[in-house]
Amino acid sequence: MLQLKKLHKEYKTGDLIQVALNDVSLNLRDNEFVAILGPSGSGKTTLLNIIGGLDRYDSGDLIINGISTKKYTDRDWDSYRNHTIGFVFQSYNLIPHQTILANVELALTISGVPSAERKRRATEALEKVGLGNQLHKHPGEMSGGQMQRVAIARALVNNPDILLADEPTGALDSETSIQVMELLKEVARDRLVVMVTHNPELAERYATRIVKLRDGVIRSDSRPYDPEAGELAPPVHKNMGRSSMSMGTALHLSFNNLRTKLARTLLTSFAGSIGIIGIALILALSNGVNGYIADVEQNTLSEYPLQILSGGMDLTSLFAPPSKSDAGDGGDGTDTVTVRQLVAKMVSGLTSNDLTALKAYLESEDCTIREDATSIEYSYGVTPQIYRLDGDGIRQVNPDNTLSALGISSSSSTNDMMSSMMNTSVFSALPEEPALYQSQYEVRAGRWPERYNECVVVLDSSGSITDYALYAMGLRDSAELDKMVQQFAQNQEVDVPVDDRTYTLDDFMGLKFKLVEAADKYVYDEDYGLWKDKSDDEAFMQDLVERSEDLVVVGVVQPMAGASAAMLTSGIAYSSELPAHVIEYAQNSLIVQQQLEDPFTNVFTGEEFG
Ligand code: ADP
Ligand code: MG
Repeated sequence: MLQLKKLHKEYKTGDLIQVALNDVSLNLRDNEFVAILGPSGSGKTTLLNIIGGLDRYDSGDLIINGISTKKYTDRDWDSYRNHTIGFVFQSYNLIPHQTILANVELALTISGVPSAERKRRATEALEKVGLGNQLHKHPGEMSGGQMQRVAIARALVNNPDILLADEPTGALDSETSIQVMELLKEVARDRLVVMVTHNPELAERYATRIVKLRDGVIRSDSRPYDPEAGELAPPVHKNMGRSSMSMGTALHLSFNNLRTKLARTLLTSFAGSIGIIGIALILALSNGVNGYIADVEQNTLSEYPLQILSGGMDLTSLFAPPSKSDAGDGGDGTDTVTVRQLVAKMVSGLTSNDLTALKAYLESEDCTIREDATSIEYSYGVTPQIYRLDGDGIRQVNPDNTLSALGISSSSSTNDMMSSMMNTSVFSALPEEPALYQSQYEVRAGRWPERYNECVVVLDSSGSITDYALYAMGLRDSAELDKMVQQFAQNQEVDVPVDDRTYTLDDFMGLKFKLVEAADKYVYDEDYGLWKDKSDDEAFMQDLVERSEDLVVVGVVQPMAGASAAMLTSGIAYSSELPAHVIEYAQNSLIVQQQLEDPFTNVFTGEEFG
């Protein structure tokens, strides 16, 4: 969202002061087609240039996505112009001795895109404006309308959020003007287009909003926008926690979206280690939406509780300015190149925490943290092994390796920074303290788990569930998922299955999974006196899974309307007693006891540990 607050701009020529903009205030929606109308000299171009960062205001403020530009540095402006803004001028501004392809590519050279990628994107942009078959013509061989379409392609090649056009049809006849306007209307379907025009008919016919300017003052506005009034309020991101970052959501949008999603998930995982304010800032940066910040701050503490992990990284050390010793004495005009100790700092920034001592402290008399905390909980990096009978076979659903072909591993371990945030698993544990989550959720069917072998289906705040979770639950055919993953991994066109089916709460109630105890996957070989891992033995595993205990869905829950926080990950949540049960079972198993009895000899090989 762009907000102009009392923008004032004067030009001084000699003794003459010309007020071009006289305290102009205007809010622009993220997605609309605004026409600026007004007689010559009324300040239209000045207004557009200031919005686009080509010219500076004297006083007032231009607020971009909630951030004031008063303190913008030249680099900030450059980045804004290069990444957010596309310009179209009346006079096309094409370079005459270069082909139109080269003209469009040039816009990408500036932003540092590699050459092959440049060519591809420029061609694509020119195809979009209907000039795909004239890539190698020069501007001089084209009509005015065609040149303007080249200019539009050039403006769009960076996929800017905002397109600014200064009298784009000013030099065109009425028929070509219409073609250009149709194109701009199309462009405005998913971004903000601000167009200056002297043609009220065209404005009336194509724009969604008309702002009239005279003598540097707005005289009328056909569709004013008050962001405070609630219309198109900045998106509310409830339950922005792990669930909304999960690969499940990405799958929902088709695999071709996955790569960008992955990048964002990585960002989020880094954010986890920087802390709460870091999360807010990084999400705001990666989404470009500032409304996020306030919202995130409010919800963060319940959705991202304060976590103390066994290992972490001090990212702030990377951001610190280079110290004297790093910088050497270069950069002073001599020809030395200095070195920034990035890797060295990264490695030395890795820390590990003595969690055993911490736990002992937290549980001791001396510790008063309990008075201020709602709950203190421990997680042990225990992943319950959950399977499902799938037709004649079995399928492991937790940890789930379906996405491993994409280089995404699923790990429910909360012990290190990456996996705690990059959890692609459908399954997660409920907190121990019911007060932490039960008041945020409405039980739509059944009840909360009461035993370690019970679980609930957690819907998201809109009452839906991801297709990814449906595959895990066996409500959709997992072969379909495997096929998509394979196609994607091999860079093939992905057949995204169409399924408009909806589900009733009853479809989930009573669903059964199989709880396999990890220790049961090993058998003792009397002949050799060693343990053997049978998890690759299909018949053995089939039998084991069939014999194993059920994990049953006993309820379906959904965040209450208006709940300010919803801390559970959407998917399937099992009782906090399950990890404890898994630990206890393992502790009592023969293989673990035998290993503990003789801690120096590997029970699988009979040899000493290295
Ligand atoms: P429009 O877009 O309607 O043609 P402009 O924004 O170009 O209006 O101009 C607004 C006023 O500012 C005009 O009076 C113009 O003379 C003055 N102006 C614009 N640019 C300059 C400049 N670079 N130097 C001096 N005066 C200028
Ligand atoms: Mg002008």
